[in-house]
Amino acid sequence: MLETLTLFAQGMYTDQSNAIGVGYPMGIGIDYYYVLLVIPAMIIALIAQAKVKSAYSKYAKVGNSRNLTGAQAARMILDSHGLTYVPINVVQGELTDHFNPTDNTVNLSPAVYSGTSVASIGIAAHEVGHAIQHAEGYTPNKIRSAIIPVTNFGSQVSMILILLGLVLSSFLWLAYLGVILYSTATLFQLVTLPVEFNASNRALKHIKELGIANDDDYKGVKKVLTAAAMTYVAALITSLANFLRLLLIVRGSDSRNRR
Ligand SMILES: [Zn+2]
Repeated sequence: MLETLTLFAQGMYTDQSNAIGVGYPMGIGIDYYYVLLVIPAMIIALIAQAKVKSAYSKYAKVGNSRNLTGAQAARMILDSHGLTYVPINVVQGELTDHFNPTDNTVNLSPAVYSGTSVASIGIAAHEVGHAIQHAEGYTPNKIRSAIIPVTNFGSQVSMILILLGLVLSSFLWLAYLGVILYSTATLFQLVTLPVEFNASNRALKHIKELGIANDDDYKGVKKVLTAAAMTYVAALITSLANFLRLLLIVRGSDSRNRR
């Protein structure tokens, strides 16, 4: 779940730098695309983030029926899939839980690792869902990993290319190239959705099958994981809004040049 917060932080930062970086050299005065597209998307993202925090804090206070810790629940699910060799570590912070594919480890925050709440078993089971995806070679997961280097490169150079293309109007193709590179970030967010939804579906299925949760626990886990999934939907909307804004700015400059 940490990845949610990190991506949000990156998203917010990019939004602000876009406003200054591209809005002003255009000489538009008010960047309408920012107001009409990016700000509403950011509001949706903030609401989604608030909802995941409130769902988490609510179900972090509700104990699960079997009094299992997140680490115990994670171990049960991993072992039932023959993943006895996948270690479960503690990482500092809150909602810093994640699966690390490079060293094949499940990393849980202290509250999830040793907590016996409904939220703890839900989040632990979700991260194990990623470990099982990794072990099974789940296709959207592979696509996502393959896109990461392109997305990283794209996010580093796209804004520079867009600015250059807009300032040197005879090199507007550079700006279009920048927009295409920016779109890889949106594509990344899109591919993230099936990965996250699938990890949560696996989590729900396994806690039910293994009797980790009773019906009440299950409902709580579902609420926490659904709220978390919505933050990924919001991240996609934010990325899409940014992409559209950049495309519209470049196209606007293009049509002015042709006049
Ligand atoms: Zn996840």
